[in-house]
Amino acid sequence: MKLHNFNSGPSILPQPVLEAASRAILDFNGTGLSILEIGHRTAWFQEILNEAISSVKTLMQLGDDHEVLFLHGGATTQFMQVPMNLLDENAMAAYCDNGIWGNKAHKEAALFGKVQVVSDTSDRKHSYIQKDFAIPSDASYLHITTNNTVEGTQWHQFPQTAVPLVADMSSDIFCRPMDFNKFALIYAGAQKNMGAAGVNMTVIRKDVLGKVSRKIPAIMDYSKHIAAGSLMNTPPVFAVYVSMLTLRWILNEGGLPEMEKRNRAKADLFYNTLDSLQEVYQPVVAKEDRSWMNAIFFLQKPSLEESFLNLCKQEGMIGVKGYRTVGGVRISMYNALPLESVQTFCDLMRHFASKNG
Ligand code: PMP
Repeated sequence: MKLHNFNSGPSILPQPVLEAASRAILDFNGTGLSILEIGHRTAWFQEILNEAISSVKTLMQLGDDHEVLFLHGGATTQFMQVPMNLLDENAMAAYCDNGIWGNKAHKEAALFGKVQVVSDTSDRKHSYIQKDFAIPSDASYLHITTNNTVEGTQWHQFPQTAVPLVADMSSDIFCRPMDFNKFALIYAGAQKNMGAAGVNMTVIRKDVLGKVSRKIPAIMDYSKHIAAGSLMNTPPVFAVYVSMLTLRWILNEGGLPEMEKRNRAKADLFYNTLDSLQEVYQPVVAKEDRSWMNAIFFLQKPSLEESFLNLCKQEGMIGVKGYRTVGGVRISMYNALPLESVQTFCDLMRHFASKNG
């Protein structure tokens, strides 16, 4: 049976990426060595890293002010690394708390300096993005989570602010073109639209560095990583390789305009179906803030949830159960998910509704 992979992360990767990665495990580019066996200071790995960095720069249309790093750990490491490098002890950073991940990010930041939560959408279970909040001009930066993986919301317009804008883009990186140059710092765990788990990409505008007085451990210091070209110590070679392959795939497919076209088509198909079946399914996210990547909904009759999820399982739909603390249903529609999978899921929703309406 064909499986439809709606996992929220690690999640579906493009088939050509999986094929190239599996070939490289046995023999990397005809070298007779596995990608798992090559040294990180070889010309081979340097080429991989160079291609990954230049692909990111091309996709994001970054100028020379920005540096691209591939660092250890997931986005959670960045929750601490960002304030360690950007927030002085007596200074203040502004954070938007639009869900589980933004909440974790500001709690980590509070270990390093003062934090002001300038937008908190918990009053409506984070089902919307607040747009009209004030940003103090003395904030060292404003932190947002561009896509709330668990709550199913996404920023479709970004706040206008004079303070440096920092974004966790873990779950919607490269889903569409945007003005990446307006961000002072962007980070993203790789395991959704970018590659294999174990590495994160961080893009930094250099002028925000060197402004804190604390001593930063070398492995946490962005400036030292920039100086070492992401090779301060052994990087997660295979995860960087898979990210490079995925970036190459995005470029070959037509870049971010093409990703946007596909993602918009999938999101339109899904949300139109959801809206047309409201006697059985309950949409919860404000229409203008709906995520193209992670769509959540509930069954109008909670007692039907289990049988809906069982039917999904029977039909080969993987990863459709809502986040453990939220419940309901969530489907993730990352770049590599074909429209056909969303179509199959919508057909199942319609079928289930006709039996249970
Ligand atoms: N931020 C966002 C938006 C996420 O979706 C996730 C993971 N799903 C994280 C942070 C945490 O990432 P990691 O598990 O890679 O640390």
